Formats: sequence, structure tokens, C-alpha cells
Amino acid sequence: MSNFNVAGSFNVAKFGGTSVANFEAMSRCAAIIEKNSQTKLVVSSACSGVTNLLVELSNGVQDKARREELLSQLADIHHAILDQLADPVAAEKEVHTILDSVASASEAASFQTSKKLTDHLVSCGELMSTHILAQLMRERGIPAIRFDIREVLRTNNNFGKAEPHLEEIAQLAQQKLIPLCQEHVVITQGFIGSDEEGNTTTLGRGGSDYSAALIAESVQAAGLEIWTDVPGIYTTDPRIAPKASPIPEISFSEASEMANFGAKILHPSTLVPALRHQIPVFVGSSKEPEKGGTWIRQQVESSPLFRALALRCNQTMVTLRSANMFHAYGFLAKVFEILAKHKISVDLITTSEISVSLTLDQTDTSGGAPELPEAVRAELEELCTVEVEHNLCLVALIGNNMSESKGYAKHVFGTLEDFNLRMICYGASPHNLCFLLHESVSKAAIQKLHQELFEK
Ligand code: ADP
Ligand code: ASP
Ligand code: MG
Repeated sequence: MSNFNVAGSFNVAKFGGTSVANFEAMSRCAAIIEKNSQTKLVVSSACSGVTNLLVELSNGVQDKARREELLSQLADIHHAILDQLADPVAAEKEVHTILDSVASASEAASFQTSKKLTDHLVSCGELMSTHILAQLMRERGIPAIRFDIREVLRTNNNFGKAEPHLEEIAQLAQQKLIPLCQEHVVITQGFIGSDEEGNTTTLGRGGSDYSAALIAESVQAAGLEIWTDVPGIYTTDPRIAPKASPIPEISFSEASEMANFGAKILHPSTLVPALRHQIPVFVGSSKEPEKGGTWIRQQVESSPLFRALALRCNQTMVTLRSANMFHAYGFLAKVFEILAKHKISVDLITTSEISVSLTLDQTDTSGGAPELPEAVRAELEELCTVEVEHNLCLVALIGNNMSESKGYAKHVFGTLEDFNLRMICYGASPHNLCFLLHESVSKAAIQKLHQELFEK
């Protein structure tokens, strides 16, 4: 299963929120670590639900009673685990200190929010879970030590979606992390880092996967294990299509496409460091490790035409229309100049003679649909009419050699003839075909496509 058997090197194992949700779940993580003596570095998420509570607090809760309710929910989640430890005193003290800082930062956020304050607040989930997980492991006889990853994971100060400084991370990991792994199993935080001034930053929602991959890269790990609540990567989200089936082996490029197109199982950037260093990645369930999982590798045995379906909601589509665009040059250049000036990142784009439709990119900590800032809209309106639509989802069909295969688009679009497709990107990549549709029908579209393309 998760044995990499590379002499002199070790594995990094990441456990997601549901894997560390409570005492039983954390104990299952400990059992997985006990089974593989090569696992020397453990990257943990916050306990399930905690980051959502922290995000709500960081958005500024003015109602004091509601704030206190959220704070007590946070305390309850952590106390429920602490109460089952044999010797909780030291971890409890640490957790209380963090909860106190959450209380004061939440009050500050109720007056004025900022991305920097949000990152300070939302990082507290991982800071708490790792104190508890390390103590639980020690009580089982694992030589665990908690390490604050902010000492190593240097990023820029783009709060909410910080970018890693790779060379510094590698250097700091050599200095601080690798020596600790000689004698200990190091328990550290996913999702968080720090900028040059020591401010806490985050890598965006779901960022623990990315952290684990960055850490694996920095210590040149032999393997990266992503332990979650499903036994591997499926043909689509099994919560949407119950007949989705696990994929035993998948290439880096296919899995990257899935992550990029919203398959929540992996943060979109996760595979970039793994691919750079050719680190094999395993995805499995901490609830059912015996079920095996998915291996993500450079070379795989099969490359089917259709591999998987992914869904990404909270899409914002901007449609720009202008009769002047017809047979004119330079229009798109002007549009992109405005977008670039305001640091608006565009995800998908389609054009016709008199219109351009594009979707906006976002995966930062705040969640929700990205907005087109008023200032950008005003500048664009000097060129053309601007229409912004929300409540859209992007469905992506991921596969291999799609642009060279005949007839499949007819099959796909025939299956979806009853759906109103808003924007279609087809042919630009050999690995995917994707389209936007209204949120209310997006799951039905996935179910229908899955049935037609993967269940027959
Ligand atoms: P973690 O907290 O461990 O990071 P996530 O909730 O972020 O876990 O990701 C796991 C979830 O991803 C699964 O429960 C599943 O609902 C969802 N998911 C989306 N697409 C897929 C897919 N293709 N295969 C498996 N799970 C998927
Ligand atoms: N705790 C963070 C989140 O919920 C990061 C993660 O779990 O990957 O987004
Ligand atoms: Mg996740």
C-alpha cells in the first residue's frame, strides 16, 4: 500500500480535516503512521469544521452572542479530543492560549477585517490540531514532536493565497526539519506559512495538500501520502455520483487537470512540487486504509479517453460585448491590459466576433465567488458593455488524446441536450473539455454524463 521502500529517505503523510476530526479519527492516523516506519513527517489539517468557524469569525461577527457561540463551538471540538487523552495538560494549555488569541482577534475583526487578520485567525485551526495530534501520538509510544511550520514554509505576503519561496523553504527545511526527522516523527501544520516579516500567511482553502507537497519537495521525500475520507481518486466526486469508482493509478497530468478543475480531493497546486521532484503520490482513506487507494505517477499503464469528471462551483462569468470588436484589432489586448493592471486572473475564455466571455479565478481563503471590482468594471465599460453572472458551475471532462479523437463531442453534447450550456471550452487542451452551466443543474449534468460515459 503506502510502502515506498527507498533506503535512507522518508515519506510525508498528510491528514485532512475529517482524518483528524475527533479522538477516534486521530487514533486511526496514529495507527497508519505506526504501520510505516518510513513516515517521518506528518502534515495535519485543522479538525473538521474548524476552518469554517474561523473563516466566519474572520469575516467580522458583530453580534457578540453569535461570536461567543462560535468560540464555544471551537472550544468544544478541541476539548472533546483533549478529554480523551491520558495526559492532556500541556496540550490543553497550548490550545487555551490559541483560543484566547482567536477570541481577541475575532473581536478585532468585528470592527475591521483584513486579509492579514484573516490569515492570523484561520491558521489557528492547524496550530491547535497539531498540539493535540502530537500528544496523542506520544501517548501511543510514537516519538512525535510538534513543529511550527511557519519556521520553514516562507511565502510572499499575498494573504489568503500566498505563494511559496521555494529556495528559502528548501534551505530552512535542511536546517530545521530534516535533523528533527532523524529521531522523531514530526507533526506539523498544513495550510499555513509566514512572510519575511514573520506574519502568518495561508495558501488558500484546502491548502494542506499543497503544504504537504511543498514540504515533501523540500526534504526530497521518497513519497507523499494524502490521507482523506475516500479510498482514492474516483471517476467523479462519489458524493455526487454514488456509482463513481476509484482509479487505482493515474498520471500526474490527469490528476493535475482534475485538481485544477475543482476535484476537491486535491488542492489545485498540490501536484506541481511532486511533479518537479518526481515524488510518487498516494491518495487513500484514513477510515479504510485497507481499501488501498490511488497512485499518481509519471508513467501509468492505461490512458483512457475519458478519465474523470470534475465540478467547480462559485464561478463568475464576465461577458464583454462591443460592435467595435468586429474586424478590429487590439480589443482583446486592451481588455487584458485592464485586467492585468488590476491583478485580475482569468481562468477560461471564449470569444466570438462581437463578444468575449471569461471566468475569474479564485481559490483564496475567503471562499465564495470572485467579484469583478467596480473600478475594473468602470474601465471596461469605457470599451464595451459588461455583464457579470454568478451562480455558475464549471463541469470538466478529463481524459487523454481528446483533441485527436473523433465523435466523442457529439456523444457528450448529445447526453447534455436538455441542459443550457453557457460557455464551452473545447479543443484547446487534449486533456479536457469543459463548460459552464447554472448551479441548480450542475450535479444533474455530472450524474447524467457519468452514467453515460463511465457506467456503461
Ligand atoms: P480533506 O479534508 O481530507 O482534505 P476534502 O474534503 O478536501 O478532504 O477532499 C475529499 C473529498 O473530495 C471527498 O470526500 C469527495 O467528496 C471529494 N471529491 C471530489 N472529487 C473527487 C474525486 N474525483 N474523487 C474522490 N473524491 C472527490
Ligand atoms: N484547514 C484548511 C481548510 O479547511 C486547509 C485544509 O484543510 O487543507 O481549508
Ligand atoms: Mg482538502
